[in-house]
Amino acid sequence: MSTSLDDLPLRDDLRGLTPYGAPQALLPVTLNVNENTHPVPREVAADILDAVAQALQDVNRYPDREFTTLREGFADYLGHGLSPSQIWAANGSNEVLQHLLLAFAGPGRTAFSFAPTYSMYPLLTGATGATYVAGTREADYTLDPERAAAQVADVQPDVVFLCAPNNPTGTAASLEVIAAVYDAAPGVVIVDEAYQEFAPRDAPSALTLLPGRERLVVSRTMSKAFAFAGARVGYLAADPAVIDALRLVRLPYHLSALTQAAASAALRHAATMLGMVDAIIGERDRISATLEALGYTPAPSSTNFVLFSGVDDPARTWQQLYDRGILIRDVGIPHSLRVTAGTAQETTAFLDALASIDSGT
Ligand code: PMP
Repeated sequence: MSTSLDDLPLRDDLRGLTPYGAPQALLPVTLNVNENTHPVPREVAADILDAVAQALQDVNRYPDREFTTLREGFADYLGHGLSPSQIWAANGSNEVLQHLLLAFAGPGRTAFSFAPTYSMYPLLTGATGATYVAGTREADYTLDPERAAAQVADVQPDVVFLCAPNNPTGTAASLEVIAAVYDAAPGVVIVDEAYQEFAPRDAPSALTLLPGRERLVVSRTMSKAFAFAGARVGYLAADPAVIDALRLVRLPYHLSALTQAAASAALRHAATMLGMVDAIIGERDRISATLEALGYTPAPSSTNFVLFSGVDDPARTWQQLYDRGILIRDVGIPHSLRVTAGTAQETTAFLDALASIDSGT
């Protein structure tokens, strides 16, 4: 008999939990985890390879613990007058969020977010021994400043996650909402802007709210718009004191020299790396328009994916698409499914497959 988790002296609060598990099926069209499905442009890839080769020459030494060059690159990229002392980075924004929770949550503390939202928030929170409390959104998944602030005031959380634009709904949040939540929160407020580059150009980032708000954190990732999911690079901007707090919980040398070199090189080509963003936005809007024509109801999206409702039996539709070689996501919202905008070809494959099976309810 093989050993099961029940046989191990596992932490009591981890018993019965299931790990993050978006399927990694080898299907021709994978539109289930909001990646950028366009590969890194060839000329940038060559430059990244050179940078990694250079870094390999010193790989017998530990990397720069403070990832100085990379922090300068992120400060430049983000603008807003940010300095490298306000930047942190880690292996994906998931690790960035984990660092924040390790510093500001932990046993006896509470983290809060507005459901439905990113599925990793409760898992990351629980892993630090903190309690996760899920608040609510309006029926159309937006947030009302007063009602959002009232929920936060009621729970008094140590950490608030505000995913904006929100995964899995695609919903934007106004600066008014973010400021109201911040004013009501006693603890750290993390605005997760993983999808910000897909928002309308004139939609302001929460970065504009940072001055004078020392408990505000804006988290970003290179996994989406930057087409760098496999490299695992996330980052944040906040008050330098927040960065000092994160130094207390990170593992020494957590960002490998190879990761630092690759990410810094990619950032030097930010404009090219982000070159597919407009095309992806075009595909996203084509998905929404076609879904509507097919009788479904797409939620307005400021991201690279679309949540659509009006699906009679999501599990069945998901399986029918799977059987046609197309992987999308059943996020557990009744009568809804989520699809990532892919290349024009992938997007057409999805839309054609959906049209060939059931229509909406
Ligand atoms: N935040 C949100 C809202 C996400 O959707 C994701 C990835 N799906 C992440 C953070 C984590 O991304 P990564 O760790 O690749 O940076």
